[in-house]
Amino acid sequence: MNTPAVRLAGTVALVTGASSGIGEATARSLAAQGATVVVTARRKDRLEAVYADIRASGGTAHVFPADITADGEAGSLVDRVLMKTGRLDILVNAAGIMLVGPALDAPTGEWQRNVDLNVSALLNLTHAALPHLVAAARDQGRGVADLVNISSVAGRQAIGGAAVYSATKFAVTAFSEALRQELAAQHVRVSSVEPGAVATELTDHIRDGVREHNEAWYAALETLRPEDVADAVTYVVTRPRHVAVNELLVRPTDQV
Ligand code: NDP
Repeated sequence: MNTPAVRLAGTVALVTGASSGIGEATARSLAAQGATVVVTARRKDRLEAVYADIRASGGTAHVFPADITADGEAGSLVDRVLMKTGRLDILVNAAGIMLVGPALDAPTGEWQRNVDLNVSALLNLTHAALPHLVAAARDQGRGVADLVNISSVAGRQAIGGAAVYSATKFAVTAFSEALRQELAAQHVRVSSVEPGAVATELTDHIRDGVREHNEAWYAALETLRPEDVADAVTYVVTRPRHVAVNELLVRPTDQV
């Protein structure tokens, strides 16, 4: 059976991590489907380049730079989006970092940064967005709203050498499934997209001595492109109202 995709004209999507990689590709893809896309991350210049491309392709976007780990920023970001657009139909939590390495003697500041962005910021942003997603599902024509969390293969199988990163992604997967159960009756779909290796800037921040090992592992694969994951997210949010794709695991074909 073939279920036709529903275009996103009239909707508003907030995409975190939109200055690079998966978030950036997702912002472009949702804009191409007709959504007004609010792009957020810390690097304003990169967001403005994404904005300009979306505009040049006939789409609509707004740039709201923010460090979503800063105190109160997640809530204030959602407030600003609502002031500008009046609604929020889709939240894609793509911002994340992957500071991996052996736990023995690891700088615990890295652990904290993993948790602050991958878990705490995602929770805070989701908490601020939820009332608006519920309202969009109730009041707007599509009759459904979407929360998409970018988890990881590491959110389904714990990976030695990436203990804290895995822990953060297990948290994202668990939070998504629990929230899905809570919000199903209100027609807010909560989905977890779990990529394997994607060629992005994610590995750039790994500490010296570990990064080389990680990059060699990526280089041995025919990695996914950010657009491949953006396709998965776009698939999720363009299903008809009665179809919820709860979880999508997307790996490079040659990733074991
Ligand atoms: P990138 O490094 O390309 O993107 C990360 C994004 O997060 C950037 O836009 C960055 O923007 C943003 N970000 C980082 N810190 C903050 C902050 N404090 N406040 C706001 N935004 C912030 O990596 P990916 O695109 O690969 O990562 C996207 C998601 O995909 C992450 O959650 C990652 O864990 C997940 N993932 C990635 C995989 C991969 O192989 N690449 C595999 C599995 C999952 P800026 O620096 O401008 O703030």
